Amino acid sequence: MHPASDSSQSSLPDTRQALVIGAGLSGSAVAHSLAVRGWSVTVLDQAPAIGAGASGLPAGLAAPHVSPDDNVLSRITRLGVQATLQRAQMLLQSGTDWALTGVLEHNLLGKRRLPADTPDQHSTPASAAQIAAAGLPPGTPALWHAQAGWIRPRQLVAAQLRTPGVQVRWGQQVQAIERHGEEWAVTDAQGQTLGQAPWLVVASAFDSLALLQPQPGFAVPLNPLRGQVSFGHMADLTDAQRQQLPPFPINGHGSFISGVSTPEGTPGWFIGSTFERDCTQSAVRAEDHLANRLRLATLLPALGDIMVDQFEPQRVCGWAGLRCTLPNRLPAVGPIDRLRLPGLCLSTGMGARGISLAVLCGELTAAWMNQEALPVPEDLAKHLAAERFASA
Ligand SMILES: Cc1cc2nc3c(=O)[nH]c(=O)nc-3n(C[C@H](O)[C@H](O)[C@H](O)COP(=O)(O)OP(=O)(O)OC[C@H]3O[C@@H](n4cnc5c(N)ncnc54)[C@H](O)[C@@H]3O)c2cc1C
Repeated sequence: MHPASDSSQSSLPDTRQALVIGAGLSGSAVAHSLAVRGWSVTVLDQAPAIGAGASGLPAGLAAPHVSPDDNVLSRITRLGVQATLQRAQMLLQSGTDWALTGVLEHNLLGKRRLPADTPDQHSTPASAAQIAAAGLPPGTPALWHAQAGWIRPRQLVAAQLRTPGVQVRWGQQVQAIERHGEEWAVTDAQGQTLGQAPWLVVASAFDSLALLQPQPGFAVPLNPLRGQVSFGHMADLTDAQRQQLPPFPINGHGSFISGVSTPEGTPGWFIGSTFERDCTQSAVRAEDHLANRLRLATLLPALGDIMVDQFEPQRVCGWAGLRCTLPNRLPAVGPIDRLRLPGLCLSTGMGARGISLAVLCGELTAAWMNQEALPVPEDLAKHLAAERFASA
């Protein structure tokens, strides 16, 4: 659909000025996409600096989902990964902040089948050489995603927020959003106005729920999903361990990445992540390191066998955060209710795929706000629309 041809757009503000709540992957992507279109954008975040939410993840994967029927999630993640990799190429330093390495998917449960008539030449059965390079036995079921790689999300957030036209204000905890005349105002716990603009994009992950709850006729079923990644320093590995490391990331039952900078700035290895529903605690836990050790043993059995000592408490490091999920694993993006709540948009619910989805969702939201043709086919845009949660 071309939004400009939609008569319901006529009540929308025509001033190119927006507030964005949340400076994670979602909020920074929307801010970047609006700013490059000439908008003036102010991003508010309650934290003192980048990386307080799930986007503080030290390293993660941009890799597509595949399914035999090339379902909606597969089609969307394919477009999303493409958008993320293009953005990374434009804004980030290859080899330091991200790398287009290709990703091997160890098909542990045999569920990840490619469509018979795949339009996508980027995901193929893994070759014998790729399986061997991963350290897996010959014949292991595996896929190879050529258009995939690792990213350090904080670097992407920082780069997007540096876009001219984007202003970021840290330490701004939004307590409420209200309609003031033709504008949206956001206030803190003392009722002080933190900002006001004709357009407001809520991108504050699970906290979006509390901010949106007072809006009549809109109920978005966001849930927190805790996750912990375990990591260590390459310098601590023995020669035998180093020789066993795969030359590219492995995905499947969790994911393994090596050679990427840790938060301390030295090269490290990473295995994640745990999944714990309805948990809002983000402290690192010993039992989650154990779960990740077992995860590595399943994903890459030979490496898991010789890495056991790296999980000893004095060696292993961890990072934990909260994903924000929606029941069908698809984000909620764009206008919430264009007639009743004009100018109010959402970009959240990225779940376990924010690296693969947030850039595309930012483009989609910005295209809609800027009244352009949407960057995804209409049938896919419908599945992502935040408006799907508005009652009639
Ligand atoms: C352990 C783990 C591993 C992961 N691995 C991967 C992976 O390999 N690949 C992948 O694609 N994805 C992965 N993800 C998911 C990805 O990290 C998230 O989907 C993504 O970071 C979500 O970004 P976001 O901007 O929506 O949310 P967040 O990064 O959580 O950002 C929300 C921001 O809103 C701010 N905020 C909240 N409330 C308020 C308020 N009231 N006022 C002002 N500011 C507020 C917060 O401070 C925060 O900065 C992983 C997540 C976890 C936890």
